[in-house]
Amino acid sequence: MRNIQNLEANASKHSVVKVGDGLYDITSGGSGNTYHVVLTLGLAGESVRATCDCKWGTSHRHYDHSVMCSHSIAAVKAEIAEQGASAAFFSGVGNARAAAGKQPVVKFGDGISVVLY
Ligand SMILES: [Zn+2]
Repeated sequence: MRNIQNLEANASKHSVVKVGDGLYDITSGGSGNTYHVVLTLGLAGESVRATCDCKWGTSHRHYDHSVMCSHSIAAVKAEIAEQGASAAFFSGVGNARAAAGKQPVVKFGDGISVVLY
């Protein structure tokens, strides 16, 4: 399971450009490289499906095809913001459910879950 605090800190440094429905160009705040994220956000208790063409993203495909890189997190945050919602990320679905109350919990890859507000 990856450290969600570190991932979010890195994600906040990237610049995000939406180029199509669920398609994002993410330019790294560290390297300046641009990566391509394809996102399907299931809002009804389903999983987020995300792919990214960064080194991590192409070498860590999970069973649900979601990758947990900072680029995919930046894209998820942009997508959720566009829908007028906000999100909190948690390591472990149990932690997310405990914090969520009646809010929906969306599963991401690698043990990370997102609570939508
Ligand atoms: Zn990536």
